[in-house]
Amino acid sequence: MDVKSLLKHAFNDLKSVSDAPVLESELLLSTVLGVKRGKLYLMENSLVDDYLVRKFFVCIEKRKKGYPFFYIFGKREFMNLEFIVKEGVLIPRSETETIVEESLKIANGKKMKVFDIGTGSGCIILSFLYYNKLSEGTGIDISKAAVKLASSNAKKLNLIDRVSFLNIDFSLYNPSKEFDIIFSNPPYVKRNKIKDVKCEPYRALNGGKDGFKFYPFLFKKSISMLSRGGYLFVEIDDDMGERAAQIMKDEGFKDIRIIKDLSNLDRVVCGVK
Ligand code: GLN
Repeated sequence: MDVKSLLKHAFNDLKSVSDAPVLESELLLSTVLGVKRGKLYLMENSLVDDYLVRKFFVCIEKRKKGYPFFYIFGKREFMNLEFIVKEGVLIPRSETETIVEESLKIANGKKMKVFDIGTGSGCIILSFLYYNKLSEGTGIDISKAAVKLASSNAKKLNLIDRVSFLNIDFSLYNPSKEFDIIFSNPPYVKRNKIKDVKCEPYRALNGGKDGFKFYPFLFKKSISMLSRGGYLFVEIDDDMGERAAQIMKDEGFKDIRIIKDLSNLDRVVCGVK
């Protein structure tokens, strides 16, 4: 089969499951062929080896059944950096860039000790450290798979000297030092709204009945771990801002702000110790 027919086939298969069937087909085919996406158009009539055709169709079949594109593709761009993604660990979302952008503004190029609760792929802390060259930090996650993946991403981005990842439950973590910035994207999806459970880790999404399962403890413990004047940035669902801000206030934070994402939805609460 030639490149053009393969793309046509894939498009027809993906158009019912995907919002971007052309893009996804091209990205998957170019990865299987080991060429840049733009080069596919120069190869439209080239014949593809049978084993590569089979490999490509395995990907398309998976995707057709609703398996997330990024788990098949194996990588995801976040803050203009490329992160490895793997099943078992949450796929980075573009709205999570809000935490990184805001914390980078606060740091303003200065040296900070940072801490990431529930680091997942490591996308938040690693992109912060990539763009703030003086800082160093620790990321923790209850999931072994997450810590392994975050460490691989640290290696890929050349950050292993400034970051360490630990496989531990936040409630059991005993910090030996204070941090200047803490960030977290905790599980906050309301239990009855969780979709895609069979693909992404339920534990990384489930925020209990009302989504607030983790916030009170997260705020309480974080304030004890921050240096005076230190910042906490936490991701929220778009309807959680006011209540999250109130809990933060009750725990003793000041200068509390609710920050919007690029879609103009409340996405992050931030407070100062
Ligand atoms: N924003 C993610 C989603 O809606 C949720 C991430 C989380 O629970 N931390 O899928």
